Amino acid sequence: MEILHTVEELRRWSRAMRAQAGATVGLVPTMGALHAGHASLIQAAVAKCGKVAVSIFVNPTQFGPHEDYARYPRTFDADCALAEAEGAHVVFAPNVDEMYPAGAATFVDVEGLSERLDGKSRPGHFRGVATVVTKLLIASEADRAYFGQKDAAQVAVLRRMVTDLRLATELVVCPIVREPDGLALSSRNIYLNAEERAKALTLSRAVRLVEMLVAAGERHTETLIAAARAVFADEPEVRVDYTELVNWDSLEPVDTAMPGSLFAVAAWVGTTRLIDNAVIG
Ligand code: AMP
Repeated sequence: MEILHTVEELRRWSRAMRAQAGATVGLVPTMGALHAGHASLIQAAVAKCGKVAVSIFVNPTQFGPHEDYARYPRTFDADCALAEAEGAHVVFAPNVDEMYPAGAATFVDVEGLSERLDGKSRPGHFRGVATVVTKLLIASEADRAYFGQKDAAQVAVLRRMVTDLRLATELVVCPIVREPDGLALSSRNIYLNAEERAKALTLSRAVRLVEMLVAAGERHTETLIAAARAVFADEPEVRVDYTELVNWDSLEPVDTAMPGSLFAVAAWVGTTRLIDNAVIG
């Protein structure tokens, strides 16, 4: 498996794969610290695309000034081993100057959506995400790009962006991979100590409860949110950021849970901010 460092190398690789092998190109954008959730995206890409690139880039513009950019886990060698084992053909690992050349002044802002859910408590986050994903899609010329439902608001922002910019890449959304006890896998789970790890289950518990209530016929947003909040009330050390039921396209709150609505939660466990969600079936 090759490791590419520049946009030019990635573009050349992608064009060669298409020209020589007639391959479709899949891209799996990540920030590294790869786990089974990322592996599931790579597997989905390998199953559908002739050639697959995994990008590993801790994107500074999507972190707020007081967030964890500096201490975000960086496990490059293990990431490459995982990507190779899952069948990826190249890893794209640019440095910050490569993605943001000196004086870079161009950003992608998906207005409205970027201020909802995580965007409310992380101003500028989705602007950073939309900008870096645009750069990755342009550089890779990917036919398909793979994202996790885990970051459901990000998916809504990127779908809007791809539609608005008339980008040629198809976005593929893969299900949330969880630990056996329900915790959604996240690169940030390594921040949790044993006590926090146990408390972190509050998020998946709230999500599961809402799913069960909907399955039992409950549709009222107020009732569903109240039930989720009650789960959090039992764990006062877990600080809720949001519990919301929204339209997954617009991220606007809805009064009634409907097929395709998104129930999403975010909460701090100690100093670690975690997210989880379910799409109403
Ligand atoms: P990240 O490295 O955290 O930026 O994540 C890269 C991609 O992996 C994003 O599309 C995430 O939504 C996806 N991802 C992260 N965690 C999971 C998970 N537990 N299950 C499925 N996909 C995930």
